[in-house]
Amino acid sequence: MADPSSSVKHESMTSKDYYADSYAHFGIHEEMLKDSVRTGSYRAAIINNPHLFEGKTVLDVGCGTGILSMFAAKAGAAHVVGIDMSNIIDQAIKIVQANGFADKITLVKGKLEETELPIQQFDIIISEWMGYFLLYESMLDTVLDARDRYLKPGGLIFPDHATLFLAAIEDQDYKEEKINFWDNVYGFDYSCIKDIALREPLVDTVDLKAVVTDPWIIKKIDLTTAKKEDLTFTSTFKLKATRNDYVHAFLAWFDVSFECTHKNVSFSTGPHAKYTHWKQTVFYTPSTITISDGQAITGELACSPNARNNRDLDIKISYQAADGPATTVDYKMCVASFHRPLCNPALSVNNC
Ligand code: SAH
Repeated sequence: MADPSSSVKHESMTSKDYYADSYAHFGIHEEMLKDSVRTGSYRAAIINNPHLFEGKTVLDVGCGTGILSMFAAKAGAAHVVGIDMSNIIDQAIKIVQANGFADKITLVKGKLEETELPIQQFDIIISEWMGYFLLYESMLDTVLDARDRYLKPGGLIFPDHATLFLAAIEDQDYKEEKINFWDNVYGFDYSCIKDIALREPLVDTVDLKAVVTDPWIIKKIDLTTAKKEDLTFTSTFKLKATRNDYVHAFLAWFDVSFECTHKNVSFSTGPHAKYTHWKQTVFYTPSTITISDGQAITGELACSPNARNNRDLDIKISYQAADGPATTVDYKMCVASFHRPLCNPALSVNNC
């Protein structure tokens, strides 16, 4: 089916069109481009490795404004094809032209899965596909599809590795403000919303001082070999306390690395690292857990795309601390709570 917004000229798009094509507005691209950890890491991985790019064909999956395509062209690629299904590509075409890369970069409008590309085999795939909690938005499926259809045997993927981490945090004050707030709203009992709020992971920055356990690797993804099925997984965890404290939530973040590069460029979205627009993801627990230094919270995290909307994620966390009860919570990451595109000032739905 054709994208309903694609018939609308970019200049005359309204809020309704931006809702259907949330990447069309420059605001979301501004946020991504200004994320210097993100964009700077891609630039370092590409520009500092001209020996990998010289004379090569490159596919940029979800090229947006064309920034990664231009890095690849600057690094000496023979030809770059950038594809994007959003109307933002109309601007990318102008940007590529304005910067003198029109003969080196071909831009294609369309959904990768449904579009014929002008080149059939590429030496390198570049893509910025990561969502909140790494997998929200499920754009990794698209990159794996591109790899299977278009990457030459032995070809490179930028980035080629991603790792998802889990820890536990002390977060009394903010839990009070975000979850327990619903117990008493101007004297009324709103606690039915408390249950719903608890099930929505919160994307926010967390102070490193709030982390009270060692981190645990929940999932490692090698993009050169991963399959779509690997993105539905269950992983056990054991979070060892680093001090005596209370736990109010689990915290997730991810690291990304370009291991095929000489200097192995990488970046982290963790609470110990510099701010990125992915922040961290907080999963509040229904009740407070008490932990002592050296003790562990053990459990299991199961993650799968939602059956009705595969861009949403169902995340089930089951856990138990020393003498506490075994608890299971079903969380759901969905567009209603946050979404990179809803950070779009044109929609001003939430305040990100
Ligand atoms: N590469 C750009 C933009 C990254 S955001 C940058 O680094 O700044 C991801 C982009 O992928 C969005 O513009 C979105 O429209 C596009 N996208 C997501 N799924 C896609 C698909 N299946 N086919 C084509 N484009 C897709």
